[in-house]
Amino acid sequence: MEVLLKNLTKVFPSRNKKSGEEVVAVNDMTITIPDGKLVGLLGPSGCGKSTTLYMICGLQKATGGQIFFGKDDVTNLTPENRGVGLVFQNYALYPHLTVKQNILFPLQNLKGEDKLSKDEMLKRAIDVARLVQIDNLLDRKPSELSGGQQQRVAIARALVKMPRVLLLDEPLSNLDARLRLQTREEIRRIQRETKITTVFVTHDQEEAMSISDEIVIMKLGVVQQIGKPQDVYDSPANLFVAKFLGTPPINVFSGCVKNEKVYIGRDMIMDAKGVEDQEVWVGIRPEGFVLDEKGPLHCEMNAVEVMGRDVSIVASNSSAATPTIRAIIPSDSGVDHSGKSVTFSLKPYKTFIFNKETEERIYLEK
Ligand code: ADP
Ligand code: MG
Repeated sequence: MEVLLKNLTKVFPSRNKKSGEEVVAVNDMTITIPDGKLVGLLGPSGCGKSTTLYMICGLQKATGGQIFFGKDDVTNLTPENRGVGLVFQNYALYPHLTVKQNILFPLQNLKGEDKLSKDEMLKRAIDVARLVQIDNLLDRKPSELSGGQQQRVAIARALVKMPRVLLLDEPLSNLDARLRLQTREEIRRIQRETKITTVFVTHDQEEAMSISDEIVIMKLGVVQQIGKPQDVYDSPANLFVAKFLGTPPINVFSGCVKNEKVYIGRDMIMDAKGVEDQEVWVGIRPEGFVLDEKGPLHCEMNAVEVMGRDVSIVASNSSAATPTIRAIIPSDSGVDHSGKSVTFSLKPYKTFIFNKETEERIYLEK
């Protein structure tokens, strides 16, 4: 089921009538979520991810715009009539019901032609329990389960009605690091098996990158970029996106373009054919640095952190936007651990420049 959000907008009125301003939680959002894919909705806290999800499922009414499931305009349908499954961060299971009863619950309220017999309900519940691998826990209460198991029950409950669209709002946030990794792989597997069109909300870039067919990056209610995780990482549309994706994060320098060359301080780091003279932000991915005595970029060296396969060079440069910058280089590239300074050449496809004011990417000729 393809999902289309068309100019979707949500404005919350100010809480304080006199002084407060209204909040535009989602601003003119237009995206297509392809049939059968898992799309990660990614951005910092407060950027409008949950609000978007709640509009898709119908818990929040859109202020403007439309929502389509395939050809159906569902903008004004109630949540029950949209055929969506929803999973929250805090599982929200009924504590007094067993796992089986929790999973059965959504089926017991079906009316009219959707109504199922007891046997059909039980079969469905057991099928989804098997899918999420909790079929051995059916008689337990939620309090007798680990966080990861509880989240599986919540996923089973969302799937049991065979939704057209599955919506997950930060489903891994309450789990510890190891379970988070494991459950995220599980969600990926379940999504691939069921081929249900899925929207996965998270503020964690690594989580979104690892699980999604496509990611949508939001800032202050506005979509910044949409694409395959690797494509967005390799070609960020603006400084915000460049900074949001990647660990360690991209290194940012204040620089300028002069006579079609890019400078960081006095170091001329690369050509910028056809670009007008201007101030820019220069972004260099940690893996974009190459140790090179004859390289153009000069930095002071603060420390070398050994990571095994790679080393991380912590350095500083007076033009850097942060007190230190970080270069990741293979540990066999012969770094002098006691050096006071370090010189780099840069991989051009790991180095981006951005307009100083708009922070939009300035694309360079290859
Ligand atoms: P996210 O899920 O990305 O953290 P939300 O969608 O929850 O962000 O919130 C987006 C913005 O809308 C925030 O500024 C938040 O304070 C505001 N907001 C969310 N829900 C309400 C509400 N019910 N009333 C007023 N403002 C809200
Ligand atoms: Mg949220």
